[in-house]
Amino acid sequence: MNDKRRDNALNPLENEFWAKRLTRRDLLKTGIVGASLCWCGRAVGWLWDTNKITDATQDNPGVFKGGAPTDTTFQAWQRRGWVREAMYYRKDGTKVQCALCPNRCILEPGDRSHCRTRVNRDGMLYTLGYSNPCSFHVDPVEKKPLFHFLPGSRSFSLAIAGCVLRCMNCQNWEISQKRPDETKRADGPEVRLSPSRPYLENLDEVARLTITPDELPALAKATGCASISYTYSEPIAWYEYTFDSAKAARIAGVRNVLVTSGYIRTEPLRELARYIDAAHVDLKGFDDPTYQKLNSGHLQPVLDTIRTLREAGVWVEIVNLIVPTYTDHLPTIRRMCEWVAHEVSPDVPMHFSRFHPAHRLAHLPPTPVETLKRARDEAKAAGLRYVYIGNVQGVPDAGTTYCPKCGKAVVERDVYSVVSIHVREGRCEFCHTPIPGVWNV
Ligand code: SF4
Repeated sequence: MNDKRRDNALNPLENEFWAKRLTRRDLLKTGIVGASLCWCGRAVGWLWDTNKITDATQDNPGVFKGGAPTDTTFQAWQRRGWVREAMYYRKDGTKVQCALCPNRCILEPGDRSHCRTRVNRDGMLYTLGYSNPCSFHVDPVEKKPLFHFLPGSRSFSLAIAGCVLRCMNCQNWEISQKRPDETKRADGPEVRLSPSRPYLENLDEVARLTITPDELPALAKATGCASISYTYSEPIAWYEYTFDSAKAARIAGVRNVLVTSGYIRTEPLRELARYIDAAHVDLKGFDDPTYQKLNSGHLQPVLDTIRTLREAGVWVEIVNLIVPTYTDHLPTIRRMCEWVAHEVSPDVPMHFSRFHPAHRLAHLPPTPVETLKRARDEAKAAGLRYVYIGNVQGVPDAGTTYCPKCGKAVVERDVYSVVSIHVREGRCEFCHTPIPGVWNV
């Protein structure tokens, strides 16, 4: 990003031109709206940022009034480097409004955001999710899951607590539905990793662990990873760390993987996408009322995210977790797959994932394997070429990639392990048909 764009991104409100001079009314008066349509995606983003604070989405009651940490905690976290000013927000007096995701939280001084990572302190918005992972692990990239992206490679995977959604079925709610300050401690000696010691001695150390964005690429390389995955919770909730880390990794030649709900506004997504190589996007259903009830979000922003990532050249795979009685309606699954095939691309891999009882839906049974197979049939009938079933054991071809032309198995997997691969230079080894994806490290 050049300096000017970086300045805007850091604090759009301090840009005099956009914040004060070029209001929406000014544009209408001067008649340059039509002329600005050629860069309309960018213009809309900034115009939104120039407005006064507006109502947050009506179904976003999740701000924690008075939930910011104490002065002592905040200052201790600042000393650790675990606090940063947010990149996307606007001010109105001492109130702030986050401009990062569609929730658009409005915070008064002392409040904490819906995603639990952001606080208003003295009229400024800060993130508490920076350089302070509560979890990290070296995973096969297939575990993300990504099946058409550097198969068989490892990914340095990490998370900070927090999420922009509140899914009733969340499998990782112990970190996604926690405040960063419930998972980390800024007292006692700080723990750091290094390329010569890239692992912790014991799990307790993770609470005092710091990994800065600049340290991440060397740790990834030292652990034999071709990529860094921002995963487990929701990297949009800790956007600033994801952004700075992805930028550092790109410079160092390490790939970046975003594992996300896709619940983000378009402008910050476009900026982040400049450094992202692959994304797993959870498309949690295709029905807005169910999205609201099950996930506390809306469908359309996620669809926008899938399109935006593809337009930005990011390799995208979609995961649809089928939750019994919520998202197992086969005609709706068919409509979702038709949308992907016709509006995005038939080459986007679709992973149907099995629900296991968890969090607030612990009373439901796991998704029947038969339902997953029928969803796969619907997806293929809708025109999708690469369809997988995940979170299951004992379904022989659940993770097999077939060549769409000759029908032969070009990648065989056993859960997260690659058993055989017959893709060379991005083509089927048998009939030389291109197989979309990123195949070479
Ligand atoms: S990123 Fe967090 S603070 Fe910002 S609008 Fe979304 S939920 Fe609210």
